[in-house]
Amino acid sequence: MAKESLEAKKQRTGKIIAVLKKTYPDAHCALNHSNAYELLVATILSAQCTDVRVNMVTPELFRRFPTAAAMAKAKLPELEELIRTTGFFRNKAKSIQGAAKKITEQFGGEVPKTLAELITVPGAARKTANVVLGVSYGLAEGVVVDTHVFRIAHRLSLAKGDTAQAVEQELMKVLPQDRWISFSHQVIHHGRQICIARKPKCEQCNLEQLCHSKDKTWSS
Ligand code: SF4
Repeated sequence: MAKESLEAKKQRTGKIIAVLKKTYPDAHCALNHSNAYELLVATILSAQCTDVRVNMVTPELFRRFPTAAAMAKAKLPELEELIRTTGFFRNKAKSIQGAAKKITEQFGGEVPKTLAELITVPGAARKTANVVLGVSYGLAEGVVVDTHVFRIAHRLSLAKGDTAQAVEQELMKVLPQDRWISFSHQVIHHGRQICIARKPKCEQCNLEQLCHSKDKTWSS
């Protein structure tokens, strides 16, 4: 794709946003939760694991440990057993308990509402922090860049960066801030259903005419 000015890129992004909004009007976080603590734990568990799998283990996990204070006192072997099927369960058990302790001891039991504070919580790197801020508090301090957002931002020539953080910075420049939260939800849906990693279903893609990716499997 030829060199594009920031203004032109913003205009193109506007068209992409309009198509995404029309295609995925109800896109939302697929992790079941009823408060910020539960979402934080579920998001930590979702690393290298499907949301469906996480949703299978969280009901019992939250029944036994309904608050950060309760989770902070959990026995690690019990936690490990409860989350075993999500993979990397030893590390994840340490992370969710570490997160619960930090929230209990330093934030009065409430998941903090700023990115700067959230990224000090064990297991909560920038992506997790952005998920919690956006979904639980409606606060857009950044853009969630998971594997789907990373891949599709490249395919749509919205970003070139080779790290999630670099892609996030590029997206923050072209997306209006009031779209930072919904854009990620919609792109994640698009990545799961149509713009899949191995063989994107370009013949079914509503963004096809706006996409010039070399990965395209079909062109109109
Ligand atoms: S046209 Fe293909 S590669 Fe481009 S966004 Fe759509 S599915 Fe992905």
